[in-house]
Amino acid sequence: MATKSLHKLGSDLAQSNKQLEILSNGIFKNGELPTFKDKISETNQFPLKAKKLEILQINVGYMCNQVCDHCHVDAGPDRKEIMTRETMQQCLEVIRNSGAHTLDLTGGAPEMNPDFRWFVEEAAKVGIKDFIVRSNLTIIRANKKYHDLPEFFKRHNVHVVSSMPHWTRGKTDKQRGDGVFDKSIKALQDLNAIGYGMPDSDLRLDLVYNPSGAFLPGDQTSMEKDFKKALLEDFGIQFHNLFAITNLPIARFLDYLIASDNYEDYMYSLVEAYNPAAVTNVMCTNTLSISWDGYLFDCDFNQMLELPVNSKSKHISEFNEKLLEGRNIVISQHCYGCTAGAGSSCQGSVA
Ligand code: SF4
Ligand code: SF4
Repeated sequence: MATKSLHKLGSDLAQSNKQLEILSNGIFKNGELPTFKDKISETNQFPLKAKKLEILQINVGYMCNQVCDHCHVDAGPDRKEIMTRETMQQCLEVIRNSGAHTLDLTGGAPEMNPDFRWFVEEAAKVGIKDFIVRSNLTIIRANKKYHDLPEFFKRHNVHVVSSMPHWTRGKTDKQRGDGVFDKSIKALQDLNAIGYGMPDSDLRLDLVYNPSGAFLPGDQTSMEKDFKKALLEDFGIQFHNLFAITNLPIARFLDYLIASDNYEDYMYSLVEAYNPAAVTNVMCTNTLSISWDGYLFDCDFNQMLELPVNSKSKHISEFNEKLLEGRNIVISQHCYGCTAGAGSSCQGSVA
């Protein structure tokens, strides 16, 4: 189990250009596997184009109380990149004026940003339809100062989306660290106690599953049934939906794939499971990702690979929805993670 980020360890794979080199060379360079561009060209889907903006996903910082093995952000307690209030103010301006109906705050652990609560309070006033915070759950139990987060979320009608890789302690702790399961269960019970996740409640609580190794997620609907049954029977926990997400070969998951000698096999499985129907709805077509320092990306994955949007509007300070609409999406082989099987996005399956 990792205790430090790749950045802190000084690993080569902390560098986005090294990751992109790996994704472009080897089996993709020698023609064993088609590049993503070639693959989507077969069905005339290249270039991938951005449609109308619906979701603004804001990454408020890479600091996290956990150091999960699969993390594509390479987040951890040692990451110091944090969005400032000034950048948040620029984001608020965009939230007020853009046509997006969903605001999605992510990290790291977004709650660790010292201006997180101020930002949520201000953003909630805009009255955006769906206001998501991606909470890793353990942060709620990590320190006394976070214990009231469920109440805070409720006050601002926040939709909580939380990672929960499995309903058993062993599988969860293996991927996310010792003690994560017990803290997550307690946090879910705290959320349920004030109405989150209850069958008829408007306080939305969704869980995110991602595989614990070099394999693709199973069927989202049947996994949701299994999760619901087990969490209810074992802990009395209820939630609304389960999103099954594919791990993309980026940062710590890429490091894991290489270290465990699974990289090529995993890329083969992604390419073999390629589903052209999933391409139409990949999340970059209706989402914009904003980094802690205000730069714009097609998605959180491109943000981590430092692949900026292909548009003259590159920073939140010069946000221009018209210029961004219809832009060509920047792609590489990591995109196969979004188009395998039923597809994958921050809201789970897409096909
Ligand atoms: S996967 Fe989420 S909880 Fe885990 S280290 Fe990354 S940001 Fe933190
Ligand atoms: S990785 Fe990002 S750019 Fe590539 S298909 Fe997925 S959402 Fe789109």
